Amino acid sequence: MTQADPQAVDDVKGVAGNHRNHGDDAGAVRARIWALLEQVCDPEIPVISLPDLGVVRDVRHGDAGWEVVITPTYSGCPAMTQMADDIVAAMNAAGLSVQVRTQLAPAWCTDWMSAAGRRKLREYGIAPPVARVGAVGAGEGAGASPLSASERVLRFLPRATTPDRVPCPRCGAQETVQVAQFGSTACKAQYRCLACREPFDYFKPL
Ligand SMILES: [Zn+2]
Repeated sequence: MTQADPQAVDDVKGVAGNHRNHGDDAGAVRARIWALLEQVCDPEIPVISLPDLGVVRDVRHGDAGWEVVITPTYSGCPAMTQMADDIVAAMNAAGLSVQVRTQLAPAWCTDWMSAAGRRKLREYGIAPPVARVGAVGAGEGAGASPLSASERVLRFLPRATTPDRVPCPRCGAQETVQVAQFGSTACKAQYRCLACREPFDYFKPL
């Protein structure tokens, strides 16, 4: 095996529809695309990369050249067009040509956010989504109606639900209250910490 040859990578650069079958080169280009994606951030949260956000599904070489497959955080998210533009711009700046494909199913959920992404959110002052394990239909008292199929479908929509506890991203206190269902963007709610008194955005679980 030879070391990855920069010249060989150059051969593939920016050539859409290049069908030469250079397995090693393709692997190097794919790794490069992933590395570049790490530098493309959520337009609404400039500290979290698209891979950390969990929206990048795949990097592949198809009939039309290199493709980056992304899944919207929620349908109609205005940031998605910006994300696609930012991906293309980042690749073009590095001499690579990619097409951005959108994959709607399975739907993105906040569980796809990486641990690093959650940490960066918190450091940025946004409370990361709290896992809603068992939040629907589990552990509720007698009289709770059985979970219907339509209720299960509703879980995929950005419901205005309040989780049990949203720790303050600044001081870590558990005593916080929601003051508005929508924060700086539709996917966030506005909270206030009762301990340090600071308001903060909460990235709502989905
Ligand atoms: Zn606080």
